[in-house]
Amino acid sequence: MLKVEAPGGAREILLHACCAPCSGAVLECLRDSGIRPVVFFSNANIFPKEEYDLRLSELRRYGAVMGVEVVEDAYDHDAWLAAVRGLEREPERGARCAACFRFRLERAARYAASRGLPVLATTLASSRWKDLDQVNAAGLAACETEAATAPGNVRLRRTPPTVCRDVSQASLSAVATDSGPLPLTEPRVATVSGGSSPLPSEKAVVFWQQNWRKGGLQERRNEIIREQCFYNQNWCGCEFSRNQNP
Ligand code: SF4
Repeated sequence: MLKVEAPGGAREILLHACCAPCSGAVLECLRDSGIRPVVFFSNANIFPKEEYDLRLSELRRYGAVMGVEVVEDAYDHDAWLAAVRGLEREPERGARCAACFRFRLERAARYAASRGLPVLATTLASSRWKDLDQVNAAGLAACETEAATAPGNVRLRRTPPTVCRDVSQASLSAVATDSGPLPLTEPRVATVSGGSSPLPSEKAVVFWQQNWRKGGLQERRNEIIREQCFYNQNWCGCEFSRNQNP
């Protein structure tokens, strides 16, 4: 299995996950590389809610197999619809998908900062149906936005490594969004582990531009889908993609 190194040699990261099929090989690769992920299911794009629940339950099932924490973000489909308004007729890989990635990854970057996790990656980059350049652009922009708009999170980043401390609700309010606060299930900031090289200091969270399709991961992804008997959807997630792929 491919071995990877996270930016700055980070040993703990936030992994935004869109579904179990896209997460299987990525989670194995991280485990084999000695990197511990917190898995963040932030996918308000998925419609209807029954489909969302099914994809989440499959991810939770695999998270239990792999022994990793799975955190669910708020399901605010109305906020997602507002984020892609005017782009409903765009084809897949078009402007609607860029806005959709940005919506989800901004929430993921915010959550990573709130947990003191220095690196954000996404399983969106593991799907051959997605435009990798679009995914990377959205991830980079999301981390830039997080660094620019959440001064409270910069303070968290400066917390010395190896220190765990309580975070007051007031300081966590910095991560609230227009669509409401993120569900911060852990009232403590996780320790930020150092790596062989220093983490970039100018941003709270660094986006990891990893191509999770290479190095045999695409093949392993398909094997895991069969091994785990995953529910494997045949459309991306939103109602517009379903209409385009009936
Ligand atoms: S097709 Fe997929 S990536 Fe594009 S807007 Fe819909 S859910 Fe998001």
